[in-house]
Amino acid sequence: MKFFSTNRRSEPVSFKDAVINSLPPDRGLYFPEYIPKLPSDFFTILKSTSIPEIGFQVLAKFTEKDIPGSALLEITTDAFNFPVPIVQLNSNIYSLELFHGPTYAFKDIGARFLARCLGYFTQYLNREITILVATSGDTGGAVASAFHNVAGINVVILYPSGKVSNLQEKQLTTLGGNIHALEVHGTFDDCQALVKQAFLDNEINQKLNLSSANSINIARWLPQSLYYFEAFKQLREKQPVVFSVPSGNYGNLTAGVFAQKMGLPIQRFIAASNSNDVIPRYLKDGKYKPYPTIATIANAMDVGDPSNYPRFLELFENNVDSIRNSIEGFTLDDGETLGAIKSCFIANNYITDPHGAIAYQALQNNLRENETGIFLETAHYGKFLSVIERALEHSIAKPEFTNKFLQKSSTNIPINNNYEDFKAFLID
Ligand SMILES: *Cc1c(COP(=O)(O)O)cnc(C)c1O
Repeated sequence: MKFFSTNRRSEPVSFKDAVINSLPPDRGLYFPEYIPKLPSDFFTILKSTSIPEIGFQVLAKFTEKDIPGSALLEITTDAFNFPVPIVQLNSNIYSLELFHGPTYAFKDIGARFLARCLGYFTQYLNREITILVATSGDTGGAVASAFHNVAGINVVILYPSGKVSNLQEKQLTTLGGNIHALEVHGTFDDCQALVKQAFLDNEINQKLNLSSANSINIARWLPQSLYYFEAFKQLREKQPVVFSVPSGNYGNLTAGVFAQKMGLPIQRFIAASNSNDVIPRYLKDGKYKPYPTIATIANAMDVGDPSNYPRFLELFENNVDSIRNSIEGFTLDDGETLGAIKSCFIANNYITDPHGAIAYQALQNNLRENETGIFLETAHYGKFLSVIERALEHSIAKPEFTNKFLQKSSTNIPINNNYEDFKAFLID
């Protein structure tokens, strides 16, 4: 299986090269040359299949030339080592809890698979890989945790000083070892600009083997299909099923569509967004109009130009009408999101995080009588405690896990928003 670029001006490459390069030279996104159908007996045996085995079945077709089966099974067993339960809220709505990994957000799933694939490939490279990531919060934590102690890989994370939560900062800055956290005196956009410039810098590229861990990387994107199968398994094939996906860069939702194209019988999807509603508006008028990001309380979805949009087009062969047949848009602003957290709690005695709350409300408003709805609960509410308390209008007990992070001491490196300083840090 080869991976082509959605811009079609770069050569198709192997899984290994797609993972190591992250982006094709023509700046498209990598996409598999075909979508393999799962064998029909897959669904018969699904009920007795564990998450690592589902991961193995779903991913083997893509990795087969580059990672032998036994090594892939080791990777999926190690990467997907936590449960992904569905929790029933009422007669037809379920929460798919994707937050039982080490950083309490769904990005653990993709980041852990990517880290282990890269770790596998570096055994056969004669140089180390340096991962650069700019983060506005959750991505950096998942990447730091996933790559911690992976041999042959150094990780440099840039985050904007004072703009990530205390808990998020602890997740980035307390691991040490091969994880280096740079606290940049600037904004998230400044952090991204520094990373972009480094990727284009010849001198750095001669000295370092740079790679990216953003969701554009195929090894972060593909494994996200597996929990759609896992949810279907736990539902015991109740149908028709609708997935509501809280979306920012649309890696999560497009991975669900990918699962559907592999053969999973999903009725339809809801693209649930905050005020950054580029895709819901696109679904309405067929025009893709990116615009600057709006800050919201569901901040992991604050994306004005979703990076997986080209994969959307690939999945539906550029046909807006077939996109509209499969996906419905839904948008909540901050006030409505607070309302959704509260009404979900009152109706179901279940606390959602701000991202999951938007997807829950989408089901509550859109689900038809015969349908079963699953919303993806992408983070633990404990990461957003002050928002939850504002929504519920009373204080709530701090979940135990937050203390585990808050007690650790940080080792961050402050730097100015200055490329030369950043470069000196990288190559010295
Ligand atoms: C990243 C993230 C999202 C958005 O996922 P995409 O794949 O970028 O659409 C939603 N919720 C949380 C908590 C996240 O961290």
